[in-house]
Amino acid sequence: MFRVRFLIFFLVVLAAGDVYAVEAVSNSAAEKSKSAEKTDAGTTFDWVHVDGPYIAMTFDDGPSAKLTPKLLDLLAAHHIKATFFLIGENAAEYPDIVAREMREGHVVANHSWSHPNFGKMSDEGIRSQLRRTDDAIRSATGSRPILLRPPYGSITARQKKWINQEFGYKIVLWDVDPLDWRRPGPNAVCNRIVKNARAGSIILAHDIHPGTIEAMPCVLSQLEAKGFKFVTVPELIGMQTPIPPKPPAPPKSAGANAIPPSPTPHD
Ligand SMILES: [Zn+2]
Repeated sequence: MFRVRFLIFFLVVLAAGDVYAVEAVSNSAAEKSKSAEKTDAGTTFDWVHVDGPYIAMTFDDGPSAKLTPKLLDLLAAHHIKATFFLIGENAAEYPDIVAREMREGHVVANHSWSHPNFGKMSDEGIRSQLRRTDDAIRSATGSRPILLRPPYGSITARQKKWINQEFGYKIVLWDVDPLDWRRPGPNAVCNRIVKNARAGSIILAHDIHPGTIEAMPCVLSQLEAKGFKFVTVPELIGMQTPIPPKPPAPPKSAGANAIPPSPTPHD
């Protein structure tokens, strides 16, 4: 009897050990996927750490036959270069506007062919979306895009990786979103952007909504008044500087001569 009890005890311990081992494996898998997220640091950008008041305006979903030329006139009047994430279907329909964007110093980039949710698509479906848009941009401008913004910002870590390897695209998201697609009115669009922009911001807007274009004179002049300087997304990425480590807490016994830690740049 004693032996049987001992055997049961031994088996329970063994089973518990197995459970522990399984947990340990799944924890380490989770850690691995976390570190995989971190390794996309050089390929994915929603904001860029820069030393200076630089920001990038980005416009998605165009070109629009009616609105994009108006926006281009305004940008030219302000001497501002922007980045346009184009829908392939629209780029194929309005190649002259795409060519004008490029000719006037803006950057044109891939935003898929028909705006599907990449997070729910097969690799082959995504590949076709990207290739057709890449081709439309190349035939309008003579050069290939180097940036991708996935529709809705929806993309998995695995997709980012193979798209970067296969197309060479950097993945560009945003840190300022005025939700202009809900058409909240030009004042709201302007206030939201001006309030939230900071050095290194990538600002999202859409050049297919009339209210967004109406908001732009306010947006551009108020951001200029705050001292911001506009650059394209590739220029902003080119200005990237390392984020300095947080200064250590000053020692408790710091005397009057102790140098206070310098403030962190964007707080
Ligand atoms: Zn979009």
